[in-house]
Amino acid sequence: MGKLHHVIIGASAAGLEAVEAIRRVDKECLITVVSKEPMPLYSRVGLTHFISREVGYDGMQMRNDGYFDRMRVRGLMGVTALSVDPKARRVKLSNGENLAYDNLLVASGSHAATPPIPGTDLKGVYPCITNDDARNIDDAIPNVKEAAVIGAGLIGIQAVDALARRGLKTAVIEMMPHVMPAMADEVSARMVEEGLRAAGLTVRVGVRATELLGKNGHITSVKVETGEVIPCQLLVMAAGVVPNVDFLDGTGARMNAIWPEALNQGRIAGLNMAGVATSYEGSMAMNVTAVLHIPVASIGLWNPKEGRYQIREVRDDRKRIYRKLVFDGDQLVGAMLLGRFEDSGILHNMIRTKTTFTLKPHHLAPATVRWGTVLRAIDKAGKL
Ligand SMILES: Cc1cc2nc3c(=O)[nH]c(=O)nc-3n(C[C@H](O)[C@H](O)[C@H](O)COP(=O)(O)OP(=O)(O)OC[C@H]3O[C@@H](n4cnc5c(N)ncnc54)[C@H](O)[C@@H]3O)c2cc1C
Repeated sequence: MGKLHHVIIGASAAGLEAVEAIRRVDKECLITVVSKEPMPLYSRVGLTHFISREVGYDGMQMRNDGYFDRMRVRGLMGVTALSVDPKARRVKLSNGENLAYDNLLVASGSHAATPPIPGTDLKGVYPCITNDDARNIDDAIPNVKEAAVIGAGLIGIQAVDALARRGLKTAVIEMMPHVMPAMADEVSARMVEEGLRAAGLTVRVGVRATELLGKNGHITSVKVETGEVIPCQLLVMAAGVVPNVDFLDGTGARMNAIWPEALNQGRIAGLNMAGVATSYEGSMAMNVTAVLHIPVASIGLWNPKEGRYQIREVRDDRKRIYRKLVFDGDQLVGAMLLGRFEDSGILHNMIRTKTTFTLKPHHLAPATVRWGTVLRAIDKAGKL
């Protein structure tokens, strides 16, 4: 039997993690990576840090240019997968190839959703998904005084942070009742909103943008459903993402669009492709970000809907500090942290491994936990 040929569509977090998982167990097989985007191999998480000038363009790169040679991968960069024929086990590519595969991994990610409102084709309106988008936004900034962001999810709120750091008068419009609806509860989100307002930003929540207005083909303002018109010469569209599955005949896909999850899924897919049966245990939500120097982390079951959970909170509105821990009995199952999260790693570990190292809710809830406390607790329980 010849060498197995693995084809991976997508050269980002999940795709490259799969390459590495395969190579760890199989040095001989053939791997081809097909990516719509040209070199370099960069991290999307860095885009807004590039826009804010915290890192340079090269700072977004996550693997160097020799990566494919080193991993002995055929990298088809700037090539799009047009369709897949699973019966014939072939992928049709934009370079004319009809590539045969033994195993195919679709790690094609997602693109920005465009809401059905007038004006989205105006100049000055950008998504923020690729390094090209980030470069376009960066290029536009010197000619702009006011910016707006539609959507205050993970991408939107980071774009807001970056634009404000670049000195633009920035507005954010979110149709849900508060910012970061999928990664923060109402208490934390309100603290973030207060922080943004205190820094001079315009925050509109619970309202939809209804129209983008322009002059000579260039955006000049965004209108919201209250009738308010917010001036902007640059607008970032961060109203959600849509999975890139058009080339798969519209197969449905469920998404947990965060980086660690992409790595996890890529690694597990890669191991299975290389013949090491590994099951996917499902994903544990974890989001960490900082908005104008206010750190926010949400881990596990941070916003339970059922009443059986015990919730312990510490809250200081003035200092913008919030700590909410969610327990199922004595077991920590979720955490929402704002302002201070030195122990987010420890809490994440406790939630993921379903152990609290014998620490009880009253130990964990009021103050930041240090590894020393954890180790002493284990020691007392005679487990070391
Ligand atoms: C601005 C921004 C900030 C973010 N910040 C965070 C953060 O702080 N924390 C966090 O956890 N997550 C963050 N994310 C999300 C994170 O980047 C994604 O979860 C991660 O990139 C997903 O990786 P992926 O490999 O699944 O897909 P993607 O990174 O989307 O990559 C998929 C690749 O496949 C290519 N592709 C698609 N279709 C085809 C085709 N037909 N043929 C060939 N190639 C194709 C795409 O062009 C793309 O290069 C952020 C995302 C953005 C945009």
